[in-house]
Amino acid sequence: MPRIVHAALLLCIGIGVTASAADQAPKKAVKIQDSIYLAPATGNVYLVTTAAGNVVIDTALAGQAAEARKLLLAENHGPVKYIILTHGHADHVGGIPLWKEAGTQVIAQRNYVEFLNYTARLEGFFAPRNAAAFNRPQEVVGPWAGNFGAKIDPTILFDEKYQFSLGGVEFHLFSTPGETPDHLTVWVPAYKTAFIGDNYDAAGLPEPMSFPNLSTLRGSPPRWALEWISSIDKVLALKPEVVLMGHGEPIFGNAEITRRLTRFRDAIQYVHDEVVKGMNSGKDVFTLMREIKLPAGSGLTESFGKVSWSVRGIYEGYAGWFDMNPSSMYEVPPASVYPDLVKLAGGPEAVVRVALEKLEAGQPVEALHLTDVVLAYDPNNSAALAARLKALDFLRDRCENYVEAGWLDYGIRTTKEKMASK
Ligand SMILES: [Zn+2]
Repeated sequence: MPRIVHAALLLCIGIGVTASAADQAPKKAVKIQDSIYLAPATGNVYLVTTAAGNVVIDTALAGQAAEARKLLLAENHGPVKYIILTHGHADHVGGIPLWKEAGTQVIAQRNYVEFLNYTARLEGFFAPRNAAAFNRPQEVVGPWAGNFGAKIDPTILFDEKYQFSLGGVEFHLFSTPGETPDHLTVWVPAYKTAFIGDNYDAAGLPEPMSFPNLSTLRGSPPRWALEWISSIDKVLALKPEVVLMGHGEPIFGNAEITRRLTRFRDAIQYVHDEVVKGMNSGKDVFTLMREIKLPAGSGLTESFGKVSWSVRGIYEGYAGWFDMNPSSMYEVPPASVYPDLVKLAGGPEAVVRVALEKLEAGQPVEALHLTDVVLAYDPNNSAALAARLKALDFLRDRCENYVEAGWLDYGIRTTKEKMASK
């Protein structure tokens, strides 16, 4: 089987990334077996053929959907009876209009509706964050569509399970919340194949797999660890021989599938349980962010999801934001007194000097905080901006996480812009 070119390190995201995956995509679909084909894209597209028509599972990012469809139609252009959406992220639902024929049923898990409404509801909030994180022009957002203004394509919605048969092939759909609350898994027993969306490989990363993003920086409600674990258990219980993902390459063989999914599940369970133990023993969120590490031998990296962010997501997902400090109850943030601290220090120079000393001592985040203090006093302070840039560069040089790198790059760009505009 040819190696599948995927959009390496492109996030599974709810936005219109202008990805290069289409440029790299092979000119032929990948045959998984006689009845299953894959068109790799930012959001893989699968075609399952039957004697009575075809089933499309996910439809890619809008900009790549036509190319993916062309590859699959070259293999089989039978009527499309069903489109199944593993979840409502833009890189999986972009090609629905291209595939939909008269009478095509579109199936999603019921939480899809609220997930899309949520995404549309906060469109204006997400636009600048997505532009910042991915260094691209900000999308033009139209007038607010209201709280329930999303376009909902599915014609069939289910809660826990949905089953249908087409051309003698059974399709079993299960609710498997994980990366999103509306995630579903498609199980085709005849082929011992499970289509699991982004619940294992959200970023299309090669092995070794990364710990997941249980809490995203671009903004999403915390992804519920215990639900994700139970969803992986549901997939493992099927004893699949083939697992097909929304990003990245198929996994073949039950032993390998079990090895990888179990390792991933156990890491989520470990981090979750350590957070809960720490919360019950009275530890604060930052202590736990520092203390909790993947166990040795977990076999996972932190190239996509960071454990520390997930720790915070789990903690605040359970408990909200209040930290028992009465100062935190009010709408006046710590930064409101930063200018006073600068005055007390005798001016920006002294604080910038300490920032540089921190950087020198290998404490770049402390250095960044100190530049925040100075910039609250004087937003255009040249020395503080220069120190800030140094601290950001220091972090960027050592950064091994894709998402973190995006935000550091954003910080570096905006700091340079500010320095140039002076
Ligand atoms: Zn995705």
